[in-house]
Amino acid sequence: MADTCPNCDTLLAGRYCAACGQDSVDPPRGARALAGWFLAGVIGADARGPRSLRALLLHPGRLSLDWAEGRRARWAGPVQLYLWATAFFFGVHAIRPFVWLRLDPEGDRHLFRGSLGAAEVGFELPPAALAALAEAGSSMVQFQLRFDAAAAAYLPVLLVGLVLATTLCLALLTLSGDWLRHAVFALHWTALYFLWEGVRRLVGFPSELLGLVLTVYLLLAFRRVYGGGWVGAGLRAAVLVILFAVLLALWVSSAIDLAIRLAGG
Ligand SMILES: [Zn+2]
Repeated sequence: MADTCPNCDTLLAGRYCAACGQDSVDPPRGARALAGWFLAGVIGADARGPRSLRALLLHPGRLSLDWAEGRRARWAGPVQLYLWATAFFFGVHAIRPFVWLRLDPEGDRHLFRGSLGAAEVGFELPPAALAALAEAGSSMVQFQLRFDAAAAAYLPVLLVGLVLATTLCLALLTLSGDWLRHAVFALHWTALYFLWEGVRRLVGFPSELLGLVLTVYLLLAFRRVYGGGWVGAGLRAAVLVILFAVLLALWVSSAIDLAIRLAGG
């Protein structure tokens, strides 16, 4: 270990420079160790990753409370957890989409479905849109491909929108300007939601069961992070669940709109 910081020449009193924060321990020089170090840096994984994931899954609200109240060093950052969860969610969506269009080859009832947690939405393709598609010479199979592409294109907007809307909703529901607490809670809650939803889509257990588990989790997390009584927490949890359902419906209807516009244009 050097006596002075190689970055700013300040005398070192420990591993990290007190002036600029640089780590005085160099990255490994060997090829294999360097590759592992690089990979760990890219996915941000160290002991904090699995520990944080466990806490997120098993202890509702613990991570958010620790983060909001300054106990942060032992945990992975909330944005990092959220990115891992969304990467997983994206991967699952590619194999088993969360929204889909079921064509009815016999009749003309083409049904769109969307499913996230306890929220399920369904739309029928409006007759006017069907006529417009026929006029544009677009087959339903082509339209289905366009719809899948549109749904995937809007997915990042949905993922970010869920966090922003939840943060805003928390500020309104609690009438508090503690934005850090709201944002961290929103990131953790959304990450947990995506993880469970992805697992459900892969394993295929009933959405009612997941809805129940998530609602109980949200209640406990809310009480831990914001305090207050059961009734207040219950009402607020219900608002957050409804918010997710509304955004899911928006996702499906926006994808339908975009697919129709693409077909007509
Ligand atoms: Zn320094």
